[in-house]
Amino acid sequence: MNIIAQERPAFLTTGPKKMLIDGRWVEAASGKTFETVNPSTGEAIATIAEGEREDVDRAVAAARKAFDEGPWRKFKPHDRQEILLKLADLVDRNFEEFALIDALEMGEPITRRKNARRRVLGLIRYYAGMATALHGETVENSMPGGDFTSYTLREPVGVVGAIVPWNGPMVSWIWKLGPVLATGCTAVYKPSEEASLSALRLGELLCETGIPDGVVNIVPGFGHAAGAALAEHPGVDKIAFTGSVETGQKILMASAGNLKRVTLELGGKSPDIVFADADMELAVPGAAMACFGNTGQVCSAGTRLIVEQSVYDEFNERLADFSKTLKVGNSLDAETQIGPLVSKKQLDRVSGYLDLGRSEGARVLSGGERLSDPDRANGYFIPPTVFRDVKPEMRIAREEIFGPVVSTMPFTDMEEVARRANDTHFGLGSGVWTRDVSKAHYLAKNIRAGSVWINCYQMMDPAMPFGGYKMSGYGRESGTAQFDDYLNVKAVWIRTA
Ligand code: NAD
Repeated sequence: MNIIAQERPAFLTTGPKKMLIDGRWVEAASGKTFETVNPSTGEAIATIAEGEREDVDRAVAAARKAFDEGPWRKFKPHDRQEILLKLADLVDRNFEEFALIDALEMGEPITRRKNARRRVLGLIRYYAGMATALHGETVENSMPGGDFTSYTLREPVGVVGAIVPWNGPMVSWIWKLGPVLATGCTAVYKPSEEASLSALRLGELLCETGIPDGVVNIVPGFGHAAGAALAEHPGVDKIAFTGSVETGQKILMASAGNLKRVTLELGGKSPDIVFADADMELAVPGAAMACFGNTGQVCSAGTRLIVEQSVYDEFNERLADFSKTLKVGNSLDAETQIGPLVSKKQLDRVSGYLDLGRSEGARVLSGGERLSDPDRANGYFIPPTVFRDVKPEMRIAREEIFGPVVSTMPFTDMEEVARRANDTHFGLGSGVWTRDVSKAHYLAKNIRAGSVWINCYQMMDPAMPFGGYKMSGYGRESGTAQFDDYLNVKAVWIRTA
C-alpha cells in the first residue's frame, strides 16, 4: 500500500464542525451533533452540528433577508462574478485539502479526486462567466392601436433550498450554488449526512470572498429533519434537489404548500450498448469504467450493458478480465482505482443485490462478494462485479444498485436494442460503442435519455447540460438551460406613441 497522506487537514482537527447561518458559524439550536465515518476503515473522522427544523428556520430567514433587503441586491453581475472568481482561486490553492477530505469522508480514491481539479475550477469559472452573460431580450410585438416597446427582464427566483447526495460533494455544491451566485439568488444548502465536510470547507472559503452575510447558508443534517423542513418551508422559492426518486417524490409533495419551483436530478439505470463493430480496445475499459467509476456511485453509470450477440461471449470475457485488474482499496492509497462504498448502509444494500442477482439466475464473472481480507475487513469494499446472462425482467436489470455492479445482456438487431435501451422508467445517461456512424446517429435520436455518449462515457463539461428524462427528473445542471430554473422572466410593456 502506498498511503500518500497520513496527516489530517487542519480543518478536521479543529473540533466539531458548525453550520453557516447569516455569515456566522454556529452550533445546532438543539446542540445535537452526528459523526461522519471513513468508509475505508469504518473509523469516525469528524463530528458535525446536526441541523433540524429550527436551524432551517434561522437559515431561511437569513437567506430571505439577504435576498429581500441585503446589500446583495445591489451587487452588479460583475460583482457576483468577482465573488465566484475569488472562490475559484481559493479552491485552487486549497485543492489538495479538498481531495483529502473527500477521500476520507466519501471514499473516492485520492488520485481520482486530485485529477478533478480542472473540472471543479472550470465549473466555478463557468458560473463566474455566466454572471455577466445572462440577459433578457427585446421582443417585436404586433399590438394594434399605438406603438409599444416590449422587452423581458430575467430576475433571480429568490431563496433556493439545495438538497444533495454524497457521491460528488464538491461538484454538487458548485452545480447548486454556482447558478445561485451567478443569478443573484440566495440559498440554504443541505449537504448529505454522509459527506458534509467539503461543503462546509467550501463555505469557509466562500466567506473569505467578501460575500454578504446570509447569501449562502449551510445546514448539515439528516433528510427526514433538515431536508424535509427545507422542502416544505414557505420562505423558500425553489428547491434544487439531487438524490433518489423516492426522496424526489417526497420533495415534490412537500413543496406544494407554496408552489415552489422544483428541479430534480434523480437516479438512473443507464443502457450502454456495444456493437460487434466497436473498437474493443476502447469499448472494454470504457464500458467497465462507465459502471465502476466512483465505485458505481454515479447516477448516470452505465449499468445495463447491452452487447451484440455475435461478440457477447468474447466481450464478457474481456470485461471480466479487465475488471479483475482494477485495484480496490483504501481511498488514500495512490494506486487505488476503486474505493469503498460510502457507508455500511450502502454496503448492505449492494450486497443484497449481489445475492439477488445470483438467485435470479444471473452468472457472476468477476467480483460478487464483499472483500474481507485483513486490510479491507473494516471498510465497505465490493469489487467490480460482472453479471452475465441477465434477463431484462430481472430486478438487477431494472433497479438502481448504486454500486460497482454491471448486468450484461445480448441483443441481435437495431430495433430491439433501441426498445431494450428504453425499457426502463429512468432516462439519465446512455452509451453506444460502434464504428458505424448511422447506428450512432440512430441511437442518439432514439434513446430517451438526457445524455448519449458515443464511443465515450460520462463526458461532462460546464457548457453542456446534464439531466434526466422520465423518472430521472427534470431541470438541468450546467449549460445555459440551467439558468432558466433560477430566473423568473418578467414581461415589460411601454407605450411609446
Ligand atoms: P437520498 O434521496 O436518500 O438523499 C439525497 C439527499 O436528500 C440527502 O441530502 C438526504 O439527506 C436528503 N433527504 C432524504 N430524505 C429527505 C426528505 N424526506 N426530504 C428532504 N430531503 C431528504 O439519495 P442518496 O442515497 O443520498 O443518493 C443516491 C441517489 O441519488 C441515487 O438514486 C442517485 O442516482 C441519485 N443521484 C442523482 C444524481 C443526478 O445528477 N441525477 C447525482 C447523484 C446522485
